[in-house]
Amino acid sequence: MDVNATLLIDGNWRSTPIGSPVINPATGAVLTVQANAGTGETKEAIAAAANAFKSWRATSGFARSEIMTRAAALIGARAETIGRTLALETGKLLREAIGEVRFAADYFAWFAGEARRLEGLSGFGGRAGGQQLVLHKPLGVVGVLTPWNFPVSIQARKIAPALAAGCTVVGRPSELAPNSVVELYQCLQEAGVPAGVINLVTGPAAPITEALLEAYEVRAITFTGSTPVGKMLYTRSAQTMKRLALELGGAAPFIVCADADLSLALDQAVIAKFRNYGQSCVGANIFYVDQSQYSAFLEGFSARVKALKPGDPLQPETTFGPLINAKRVQAIRDLQKAGEEAGFEHIAAAPDLSAAPGAGLSPELYFPPALFAAPALDRVDQAFLNQEIFGPLAYVVGYSNLDELLDRLCQNPLGLAGYVFSENTAQALRIAARLELGITGINDGLPSAANAPMGGVKDSGLGREGGHQGIEEFMDLQYIALGKPLLA
Ligand code: NAD
Repeated sequence: MDVNATLLIDGNWRSTPIGSPVINPATGAVLTVQANAGTGETKEAIAAAANAFKSWRATSGFARSEIMTRAAALIGARAETIGRTLALETGKLLREAIGEVRFAADYFAWFAGEARRLEGLSGFGGRAGGQQLVLHKPLGVVGVLTPWNFPVSIQARKIAPALAAGCTVVGRPSELAPNSVVELYQCLQEAGVPAGVINLVTGPAAPITEALLEAYEVRAITFTGSTPVGKMLYTRSAQTMKRLALELGGAAPFIVCADADLSLALDQAVIAKFRNYGQSCVGANIFYVDQSQYSAFLEGFSARVKALKPGDPLQPETTFGPLINAKRVQAIRDLQKAGEEAGFEHIAAAPDLSAAPGAGLSPELYFPPALFAAPALDRVDQAFLNQEIFGPLAYVVGYSNLDELLDRLCQNPLGLAGYVFSENTAQALRIAARLELGITGINDGLPSAANAPMGGVKDSGLGREGGHQGIEEFMDLQYIALGKPLLA
């Protein structure tokens, strides 16, 4: 297979002599071969971005907004095509993949609006004998590093605010899912983003990341992925004093209170846990259920887990497909064993792939979703509850003392998302406010939105994406003192 032209450098698509295969996890087939950018190609991309920054930062927010509005429309119009590419390379359900691409379009539409509003931001103040001006300035070149689990929407929620602010971009998608990101960048190029403003480098992480970390012109790195890699980037960025935005792992608690609407909680539990087969940073990690609802919750959840259907992610009747690779399958097997040792009992599982019609699927990466339970919080090992599951295993724990539960949850170093189900809004808000989290859904298993600030606290990261706050990650302030007042 030829190596595809998956590098976008200074407006030109390029290939490399050697590439890496992109695999369809549902079948094991090689889909394409991505180009492997090395240090040289990445340095070229950084130089192109630094050069393009000179003119892009000088365009008006209105002009940037127009281009981004066109990009949003193009991405939306191609949601089915890009969604199919995304589903093939990640094994994600086609309907979820199309939804993800539409969500990516939302980010461009939202930040197109923010780009217009930036024009009014620079302030004008006064001091004795002079005046003051504060400029809001784009940072410069931004390195955009993203994972495979939401390859298009996570790139979009980083690129859109960076472009809106007036920054230029060198992006690297995960080597596991670069093709849908290539199609995203094609939309941006067709929408009129000038050459050099967005650059894409594909291939193994090390040489690309090294070049980005070392370059002084790269003034910010925005990364989504695991906590250990995020901490490494944070440490290494000190050498060139880059701004860091980090969206890292989570271990979202899903709390079902005594007065919860059980049917709503159960339906939302399935979404919060099994969307993308649990491979989501905001995915529900452990379900904490008040003793009074414990048996009924387990019964309802068990029925829903057994009803999940394995199959081809492109087919509408399928509700779960493959995990991304053998490494994740092994990690989930290990977790299942650790869960048993930590005090959980197996309750139910979805059927395995032998129950799925159709040919061509490879069973290796299919791991049937399963449900486990422990009736009392104090009988479960805390270390197990604190870790990120990131897969299709659901763990339910009964609790009897809400205060004690909240204290324990706050001891978790991970603090990305969480969920509270209660019919008493005041109580749900009090619980949400007490949790040390960046995002909380109250009676809502899917709180993600382009106009909301998303991000975590403690080991779950730094900074916010989306909302107005998302653009501030890519701007710096310059204070200018005027010794001779303009308005004398
Ligand atoms: P990962 O950290 O292994 O990989 C993320 C990206 O970093 C990939 O592109 C990968 O190629 C690259 N990478 C891996 N090792 C690297 C290294 N040593 N140097 C430089 N780059 C490196 O994570 P993953 O397995 O792809 O994704 C799963 C993790 O990401 C989970 O912990 C999940 O919670 C987290 N995540 C967080 C969010 C969020 O918004 N907070 C979203 C999705 C995923």
